[in-house]
Amino acid sequence: MQYRNFGKLDWQVSALGLGTARLPRDEGESSAIIRYAIDHGVNYLDVPYLRDAGEREALSRLISSALGGGYRQRVKIAAALPVQSIGSSVDFDRCLKEQLECLGVESADFAIIGWLDRQNWPGLHEAGIISRAESAMADGRVGALGFSFHDDYQTLRDILNACDNWTLCQVKYSYMDVDHHPGVGGIRLATDKGLAVVVSEPLKGGRLVNKLPGSVAEAWGDALRERSLAEWGLRWVWHHPEIATAVSDVSTLEQLEENITLADVAPAGGLGVPEQLLVNRVRDAYQALKPVTCTTCRGCMPCPRGIDVPRIFELYNDAVIYDDIETARAIYREEGHGIERCNECGLCEKACGRNISIIDWLKKAGKLFED
Ligand code: SF4
Ligand code: SF4
Repeated sequence: MQYRNFGKLDWQVSALGLGTARLPRDEGESSAIIRYAIDHGVNYLDVPYLRDAGEREALSRLISSALGGGYRQRVKIAAALPVQSIGSSVDFDRCLKEQLECLGVESADFAIIGWLDRQNWPGLHEAGIISRAESAMADGRVGALGFSFHDDYQTLRDILNACDNWTLCQVKYSYMDVDHHPGVGGIRLATDKGLAVVVSEPLKGGRLVNKLPGSVAEAWGDALRERSLAEWGLRWVWHHPEIATAVSDVSTLEQLEENITLADVAPAGGLGVPEQLLVNRVRDAYQALKPVTCTTCRGCMPCPRGIDVPRIFELYNDAVIYDDIETARAIYREEGHGIERCNECGLCEKACGRNISIIDWLKKAGKLFED
């Protein structure tokens, strides 16, 4: 296993982190996966905050059981606290308490507030979330503080500037995410501020490996004889030295074994120029499949009715280019979009420099995701 610096902490994190969201709900199987990871050097465990209380407790029980027998001491736990459940500073304490109790631990090494964006951040900041989180650090319930993020560079800068105690920033990052949310520029901004950057969904939740459109397969060409899609995706993330760890959600021991083998041999700076150009061509092949030519510049925002047009187009495009409507629909619902709020005022269309027929495309997206 390769290890990397973890921002301002005097600690080295394994290049591969273990995500627990997709672990099998069988105690024996999940325990075997978690312990195999730790035995092979993984020292970062990501624990989501599942919305469903029963699911949350079931997952936490599995993790808690796997971390007995001295395993807890060999891994750092990153506990997610989702903004949907935090409306006030009191909610922060409640969510943290629930996570700690479920896991049967007194403290989390990292508490990760997420997913922060321009919509939820001002309210949370106003509600005093930072000072409440800092109190949790002071009394030992939390070792260090982080946030997960899915928005643009400017919003990231505001969040970073609001607190000196941020230690990590978690972003979704893959070779398809170089130029937005927050993209390469945002990642460098976070590392320049001394934060460790933790990557989730390095394979876009499996969408980069499950189905391969013909034009994308053509772009890969013979390269897939040498390396699998998963290997290319993970190697691309690890190529970037500014990434501290890539969290991979696995559901089988075989997937974990493959990832660990790769984490042993895929160093920072490991891709040569021809390989980087190849990945660029693959990205271009995916981009060419987008039905909506939205660049997520956000020039059409804000919408007076609270509709996040670029995000909806991003989900719509993802559904098409990865041929995976179900995942995009699940995210659409989880994020609470609602196209019926649109009153067709046309303000967004007037602001769009690409002259996209936004209202028509919104209707198509609504049909795909809401019907
Ligand atoms: S047309 Fe719809 S999406 Fe566009 S600004 Fe008006 S309400 Fe918002
Ligand atoms: S202004 Fe146009 S291109 Fe930019 S985010 Fe809005 S719809 Fe997309």
